[in-house]
Amino acid sequence: MARKTILITGAAGFLGSHLCDRFIKEDYKVIAMDNLITGDLRNIEHLFKLENFEFYNHDVSKFVYVPGDLDYILHFASPASPIDYLKIPIQTLKVGSLGTHNLLGLARAKKARMLIASTSEVYGDPNVNPQPEEYWGNVNPVGPRGVYDEAKRFQEAITMAYHTFHGLETRIVRIFNTYGPRMRLNDGRVLPAFIGQALRGEPLTMFGDGSQTRSFCYVDDLIEGIFRLLHSDYAQPMNIGNPDEITIKQFGDEIIKLTGTDQEMISLPLPTDDPKQRRPDITKARAILGWEPKVSRSEGLKITYEYFKSLPEKEILHKDFTYYNK
Ligand code: UDP
Repeated sequence: MARKTILITGAAGFLGSHLCDRFIKEDYKVIAMDNLITGDLRNIEHLFKLENFEFYNHDVSKFVYVPGDLDYILHFASPASPIDYLKIPIQTLKVGSLGTHNLLGLARAKKARMLIASTSEVYGDPNVNPQPEEYWGNVNPVGPRGVYDEAKRFQEAITMAYHTFHGLETRIVRIFNTYGPRMRLNDGRVLPAFIGQALRGEPLTMFGDGSQTRSFCYVDDLIEGIFRLLHSDYAQPMNIGNPDEITIKQFGDEIIKLTGTDQEMISLPLPTDDPKQRRPDITKARAILGWEPKVSRSEGLKITYEYFKSLPEKEILHKDFTYYNK
């Protein structure tokens, strides 16, 4: 069988780089694209020597072209942490909207199947728990998270329009909180924030009273779910995440135990529109893809902690929420 070609945007980021690894392992030709605003070439450095890997430094919110045949496009370019989209709100809106439009056009021209990375943020601060795909969400369009949430909601809408109007083959994955090696230690999210604080001997910054919940999925499980969704014939949005729900306070206690830090948690004000609960309903993924997460939080956290510990000391000490090396 001839080798398939896949374009992966956001390839130098956390999820994008794991996707590159997976598709290289499956013997695809991988064309990686990233503008390196939040991505880091170190995540894909090991792939540059391969003949079936190429990298383009490009911003997909501008016209995108790659020569030759394309079988698949995975659109994973986007800032994806609340700190990121507070810092770069316009780019966040553009990559989800203009970027998606450009890539849909490319997919159409190449007759490629396109999978977009959507998010549990389309559910906003949800009034139902767990969240099934049929839930329409509770999003504040003009709040600080609106730039991400609405870009992702527009992204789903335009992708579905290309599917119904142009007959393009499309897939939509709604990704819930995911963690693992290659997350940025300083991206402001709760897991790297807590582990970074523990490594530096600082108190853990719990926002609010810590009663809000999240459900954390280990990256390998997520990648397997995306791989299966891409190869399925299911064009409606699909939740992929781990339904093991936990409060942020319990999560902080787990990190304190894991790292053996002598520090405690301190409470800081809860950010605006911070969702109070989040847990995926994965009935569809189970039934349609035969998928469910396999890695427990304790296993996944151990691997992730080892990764963060292995980073250069100056990076661990660099605690500003800025882009390291940029
Ligand atoms: N959070 C926290 N301390 C931090 C960073 C985040 O308590 O230093 C909380 C945050 O308020 C939210 C949860 O942890 O309720 C998850 O936040 P994160 O930014 O990781 O992702 P979100 O799921 O909110 O997009």
